[in-house]
Amino acid sequence: MKIQVVRATMPYNPKIGTPITALDTPSMVVDLSLMESNIDKLFSHLLTTGIRIRPHLKTTKSVALARKLVAAGATGGCVAKLSEAEVFTDQGFTDLLITTVVVGKVKVGRLVELWKRNREVRIVVDSEAGIRGIEEGMKEAGVQEGKIMTLLDLDVGLHRTGCQPGEEALRLARLVRQSGYLELIGVQGYEGHLQHVHSKSERRERCLEAMSILTKTAEALREDGHAIRVVTTGGTGTAEFCVTVPGVTEVQPGSFLFMDTDYRNAVGTHYSNSLTILATVISKQGPKCVTIDAGLKSLTTDSGLAECKTPGYTYGVLGDEHGSLSWTDAPDLEIGDRVEMIPSHIDPTINLHDSYYAHRDGIVEEIWSVDARGKVQ
Ligand code: PLP
Ligand code: MN
Repeated sequence: MKIQVVRATMPYNPKIGTPITALDTPSMVVDLSLMESNIDKLFSHLLTTGIRIRPHLKTTKSVALARKLVAAGATGGCVAKLSEAEVFTDQGFTDLLITTVVVGKVKVGRLVELWKRNREVRIVVDSEAGIRGIEEGMKEAGVQEGKIMTLLDLDVGLHRTGCQPGEEALRLARLVRQSGYLELIGVQGYEGHLQHVHSKSERRERCLEAMSILTKTAEALREDGHAIRVVTTGGTGTAEFCVTVPGVTEVQPGSFLFMDTDYRNAVGTHYSNSLTILATVISKQGPKCVTIDAGLKSLTTDSGLAECKTPGYTYGVLGDEHGSLSWTDAPDLEIGDRVEMIPSHIDPTINLHDSYYAHRDGIVEEIWSVDARGKVQ
């Protein structure tokens, strides 16, 4: 039997100039003025310190936004995964650090293919098995010349990836030096466990301790004859402290661009919540309770529940596609009303959507695609 593909006669295709009131929902919308102010705040402060900013693009997964950050002064970008690096490279954005170790035959095969067409890509390693695996992959692919720019990933307290400082770091660095396929250019140590520490003084103090592990290791490697020129670290919650440490050369903040309620609750409102999920009230379930069209497939809940941008309403999850808003004192919501929801965790929420609708004063000015959406490999 032949299957006939029926196409919609009126495809939904909002254009620049559309008011956000005319967008279908749920839609991911960005307030451009707030986003630009976040960029300005971070770059105007950090760049004066002489540090390089390599923003983490796992947050936006968007090439257009990566280019905006470079225009603001960024040096390339970080990606979390190899498949994200493939997407960015294919669109001509090539100055990339993959911040997660590349492990396993399949992944290494993809890395070698990527490196053949993007010699600017940087990787991290944290084990002998990982180093050997990449060497094998390069050998099997018959690579004759060139080395992959490599950073040693160091555990500075997060206990996620990273080798231990001291002997282990020295041993692995020597292995990289002996390798015909890898060139050691630096160290990475990400203090992810400190990003959301609420007390600023405690966050600062613990960050400086982590930075001391990182910069001392970089020094020890230099004394052992390695040309360590990159010392990379930091996120939205700690970058301001990392840049004060002599020896740190680069920071990797990502979430500052849009923020989320989790980050706001932890580090305050220096950066604004510039991204919201626009939703519609589709049913009334009581005098002070409505159902909106945004549930688990529009807003993630790993870091708590999203918040309505207008104060006074409490959000609840009603499954994949629905959520509730209830209130006691706020103005009544009615069927057809629209609300903006602030995500609780920005990175996985963005990964649920295809496009950003960026508006100024309610008029869509730019539309960006979430190019690396779903790229988790
Ligand atoms: N660097 C690494 C290695 C990360 O994993 C992350 C986020 O998880 C970041 C930087 C960016 O951190 P943030 O989004 O908190 O700014
Ligand atoms: Mn995150």
